[in-house]
Amino acid sequence: MHRNMRVIIAGGGPVGLIVALVLARNEVPVTVLEAEPGLTHDLRAGTFHPPTLELLAPLGITAPMLESGIRVPRWQWRDRTAGLIVEWDLGLIAGDTPYPYRLHLEQHRLTPIVLSMLRALPHAEVRFGTRFDGFREHADGIRVEATGTHGPEAIDGTWLVGADGGRSSVRKAAGIEFEGFTWPERFSVISTTCDLARYGYADNAYVADPDQWVAVFRMPDAGPPGLWRMTSPVAEAASESDVLSEGYAQDLLARFLGGGGPFAVTHKSIYSVHQRVARAFRRGRVLLAGDAAHVNNPLGGFGLNSGIHDAVNLGEKLARVMRGEAGADLLDLYERQRRTANLEYVQEISIRNKQNLEVRDPAEKARRAAQLRAVAADARAARDYLLNSSMINSIRRANAIA
Ligand SMILES: Cc1cc2nc3c(=O)[nH]c(=O)nc-3n(C[C@H](O)[C@H](O)[C@H](O)COP(=O)(O)OP(=O)(O)OC[C@H]3O[C@@H](n4cnc5c(N)ncnc54)[C@H](O)[C@@H]3O)c2cc1C
Repeated sequence: MHRNMRVIIAGGGPVGLIVALVLARNEVPVTVLEAEPGLTHDLRAGTFHPPTLELLAPLGITAPMLESGIRVPRWQWRDRTAGLIVEWDLGLIAGDTPYPYRLHLEQHRLTPIVLSMLRALPHAEVRFGTRFDGFREHADGIRVEATGTHGPEAIDGTWLVGADGGRSSVRKAAGIEFEGFTWPERFSVISTTCDLARYGYADNAYVADPDQWVAVFRMPDAGPPGLWRMTSPVAEAASESDVLSEGYAQDLLARFLGGGGPFAVTHKSIYSVHQRVARAFRRGRVLLAGDAAHVNNPLGGFGLNSGIHDAVNLGEKLARVMRGEAGADLLDLYERQRRTANLEYVQEISIRNKQNLEVRDPAEKARRAAQLRAVAADARAARDYLLNSSMINSIRRANAIA
């Protein structure tokens, strides 16, 4: 490889770090620019699906994740008034994956694992406190302008990967449209130490309600028994300070659990939710991955998983191009595979999941509950359902595109 050849990655979140790891393991020089002074620790994604664990296993990441994560082989679909509708058992897809469960692990526990692996590889460099500002493309490469701890600098590379999140500066600098929409309501996240298993909840449950559905996840936190995280929609008119108040969290928990309290609340946050996909994942020497390329609501836990699917797909293809084993058109295949999987599975199913949770008409609600129960009662139909909800079909669809 020519000594000036290098991949520059904007964004040291999970997706940027995993692209870097795949490249560095293939002896491709890579520089990650991360604007923050260190890894970010805010509470975000926390569900890992079977194909993600399969993709991360050869990189050595899955084993340490399994040590600290919670395995969730069963998850529930519930109704706020009718109670349990269906409990899904991922044992039905044990023939399709070596990991027939969801793994709950905070996103900020994944990134230190990947960073420590990168630190041990000679071809990888991670620069914290360095913000991507812009780029200029020329015939044989790309010049990135950044602002680091010592002021503005220019970094030369061969390819630029934008893994810099939903507000991606790389995507904007490349002039790539982010097509889709933003939901009018925001989502709130509340964590409690109150043990929801005592109320009959599995470690992952979705509770339908036309006014305030709830998605429930038990997260590992600092160790057993962990924390229960609840995501729910916020009325458009509600102010951010009201939603983040202790009273709001207590009311939500009391309503949800049928009274009682006060409950121990350890975390509250609120965020806007979008369904958007970049019009292109590649433009010239610029490639997009993860939230920079697509965002979706968290119902189904597809956001970070699909970003990791991008990261491994892109890292492997870019490594082949950098090593001269394939032409640059291989990167167009990355776009075809990953953009299609996002549009057809991640966007469609996450939107449908949200709509199913908020059905108002009682007759329609009963019809959908009966339909779900019928699917769950038929092993073949249930397996098909789980292949979709576990993202196995989305990976199969992407891999079938040539
Ligand atoms: C508030 C919030 C809550 C979420 N909750 C859930 C959830 O419950 N379930 C779920 O599945 N998903 C959730 N997600 C989505 C999930 O967190 C993302 O899919 C995941 O973080 C994507 O990883 P990424 O590496 O692509 O982007 P990010 O994790 O956003 O990482 C991007 C990185 O780029 C850096 N960066 C940004 N701009 C620049 C720049 N100009 N130069 C250098 N670095 C830059 C940022 O500092 C950041 O470290 C949530 C997202 C948010 C924002």
